[in-house]
Amino acid sequence: MNVHEYQAKQWLARFGVPVPEGQVAATAEEARAAAQEIGFPCVVKAQIHAGGRGKAGGVKVVHTAEEAAGFAEGLLGKPLVTHQTGPEGRVVGRVWVEGASRVEKEFYCAVLMDAAAGRPSIIASRQGGMEIEEVASPEEIATVQVDPVVGVAPFQVRRLARRLELSGREVGAFGALLRDLYRAFLDSDCLMLEVNPLARLEDRRFLALDAKMSFDDNALFRQPEAAGLRDVAEEDPREVRASELGISYVALDGDIGCMVNGAGLAMGTMDIIQRYGGAPANFLDVGGGASKEMVGQAFRLLLSDRKVRGVLVNIFGGIMHCDVIAAGIIDAARETGVTVPLVVRLQGTRVELGRELLSQSGLRIIAADTIADAARKIVDAVRSEGPRP
Ligand code: ADP
Ligand code: MG
Repeated sequence: MNVHEYQAKQWLARFGVPVPEGQVAATAEEARAAAQEIGFPCVVKAQIHAGGRGKAGGVKVVHTAEEAAGFAEGLLGKPLVTHQTGPEGRVVGRVWVEGASRVEKEFYCAVLMDAAAGRPSIIASRQGGMEIEEVASPEEIATVQVDPVVGVAPFQVRRLARRLELSGREVGAFGALLRDLYRAFLDSDCLMLEVNPLARLEDRRFLALDAKMSFDDNALFRQPEAAGLRDVAEEDPREVRASELGISYVALDGDIGCMVNGAGLAMGTMDIIQRYGGAPANFLDVGGGASKEMVGQAFRLLLSDRKVRGVLVNIFGGIMHCDVIAAGIIDAARETGVTVPLVVRLQGTRVELGRELLSQSGLRIIAADTIADAARKIVDAVRSEGPRP
């Protein structure tokens, strides 16, 4: 789960990370009042769950309350398109107003859960700021892997400081900041915490001018306060619905909807669809013990995606019996009046009964035996059907 910059900054401040003072505003009038209170010059920043705002006209230094209100007015309620949002952009619901700092140098700094290393890593680069993607060559990025038992060790601070070409006198403050960031990362169950830019000001203080935090969804149950920061307007509505239902669903770009049980089988199904020249519209794992209702809900969820031009159901009935799955599919298909081709491959407990139910349902269901057979059939069916009515 991602949060907005202003939420991340307020969160990090509690861990002692230096951030600018600011206020959040949902209207132009609130932005005017905030700017007035903070003083000038100040910065007005669009709050969306995507970076690249600076280059896209979503961040501006303003010198008067009028200018703050005018800039906020131009952003609020409208989509902001950045290189990270896709062409449709993200609608700006709030702006954050903070004091403008006199920046001497911008660095990049991040803590992330490094799956390959099996522990958190801290990454830093001398080349931070808006050009990070273009300018940071691998040689300019320094990485240290943190031993979770030891924490951020002094030699690691020195190594990173050297790569940032900091002076000896700056190492103490930099180390304290890294430790605060690392503690925030760990105590908040984050997957990623990025500060870009980490600014060195003209008075040589360090300040986190931007912050991005990603919390581990699996740990949100013990981070109730973080869970409260969720902004569903920023998320795919189908993914929100799926998480309410307890279904693992990730929207993708293709046109073949997949309903599978078990994450491994779901991944395999997506791969084999691609192998036969198709493109999956989603990852969907209904789970091992899903009920008939759940199968129905998952089916409706799939079809609510207008891109879907065919559905492949690939279910291994272990805990969940094949006849139960078949009944769920039949109910949902009748209810939604499914018009796209539907290929079903069932295997496992009570598979004969399940197949019988499907074939007697009177629905236009294409039965498949193996995963490869199923993938070939759905790809062919989608090709010959043409666009969805
Ligand atoms: P994004 O990463 O989405 O482009 P940032 O918050 O990093 O947005 O802002 C873009 C740039 O604006 C920063 O790289 C920095 O140069 C400048 N900036 C942002 N906040 C401030 C601030 N409080 N004071 C001075 N400059 C700022
Ligand atoms: Mg940034």
